[in-house]
Amino acid sequence: MKIAILPGDGIGPEIMAQAVKVLNVLGERFEMESADVGGAGYAAHGHPLPPATLALAKSADAVLFGAVGDYKYDTLARALRPEQAILGLRKELALFANLRPAILYPELAGASTLKPEVVSGLDILIIRELTGDIYFGKPRGVRECPDGPFKGEREGFDTMRYAETEIRRIAHVAFQAAQKRSKRVTSVDKANVLETFQFWRDIVTDVHKQYPDVELDHMYVDNAAMQLVRAPKKFDVMVTGNMFGDILSDCAAMLTGSIGMLPSASLDASNKGLYEPSHGSAPDIAGKGVANPLATILSAAMMLRFSLGKTEQAERIENAVKTVLAQGLRTADIFEAGTTRVGTEEMGNAVVKALG
Ligand code: NAD
Repeated sequence: MKIAILPGDGIGPEIMAQAVKVLNVLGERFEMESADVGGAGYAAHGHPLPPATLALAKSADAVLFGAVGDYKYDTLARALRPEQAILGLRKELALFANLRPAILYPELAGASTLKPEVVSGLDILIIRELTGDIYFGKPRGVRECPDGPFKGEREGFDTMRYAETEIRRIAHVAFQAAQKRSKRVTSVDKANVLETFQFWRDIVTDVHKQYPDVELDHMYVDNAAMQLVRAPKKFDVMVTGNMFGDILSDCAAMLTGSIGMLPSASLDASNKGLYEPSHGSAPDIAGKGVANPLATILSAAMMLRFSLGKTEQAERIENAVKTVLAQGLRTADIFEAGTTRVGTEEMGNAVVKALG
């Protein structure tokens, strides 16, 4: 099995080194090959997604991605900025399903902004459609307002749209993910106001007929946002469109206290995927050896489960992470009085040790 390792910028190389260390002690035969991406790609090859990096990502069974971006590249033309690498990879690899688990380990309940009893033990999975919706719909732009009370003024406009195939394939991902969990899916939409999302609801309901073992309910996005902070543990798998998913997944991320704990996966139709921590390149702490590597290590676990068919190894890593947290080891972002502060490398070593 070939894994493309793309460390990227900022803390990317530091956290990736820990994930690679963990993969190396599992006793599996992985072929791991690294390449430059983001600012590192631009600096070495003049492009954030150099052709050799893209070719490696395409040829691999899975991609493990660190993070990209640095403020020093903010003045570059948009097409050359580090963040374009991630958009390019999503497009070129046809990654349409973004899976973001939000898990709050009981030991970290105090790190959340919500009351411990509301979030302790939280384990939900948000599935966001990545390629459609108002983010990509055309036409879009700024024009002269053609009608209504503001006729003749300038107006900005975008187009919300979803093709039936796009909804069907993300619904299948959600129902199949639920089958491996507690068999409940909440589809989040705005069917009461938007035609696009009434269509979304109808199609999700139709796909559900193929999954009689999974319970489906529908929820309007405004209510879903409220329930996420009121009683987040009521959810199991949540599936939604690109824009609602963008907002709700960040909201869910913060329930868990630190973005340094959150992995993510972006999958194509055959479960080939790109795996990355939910956070960015954190230039403010890069090079200091203090970044939390657990989101990247947990992303590697997701990669083993979803793309490489190694569920047992994924569970071993997840259990090792639980062990180090139970041992009281904490990087600075999750540190609390009474726990032991460790750096990036020490945390990686502790996970390796916990793996036995
Ligand atoms: P960020 O996620 O990099 O950092 C936000 C805050 O969280 C910072 O205070 C940072 O120190 C902290 N943080 C992030 N990851 C951490 C970790 N593993 N351990 C401990 N603390 C951590 O977001 P930002 O500051 O808005 O963006 C920085 C750069 O990252 C920008 O160039 C942005 O475009 C880029 N970015 C990249 C991705 C990606 O690669 N997928 C995602 C988001 C942002």
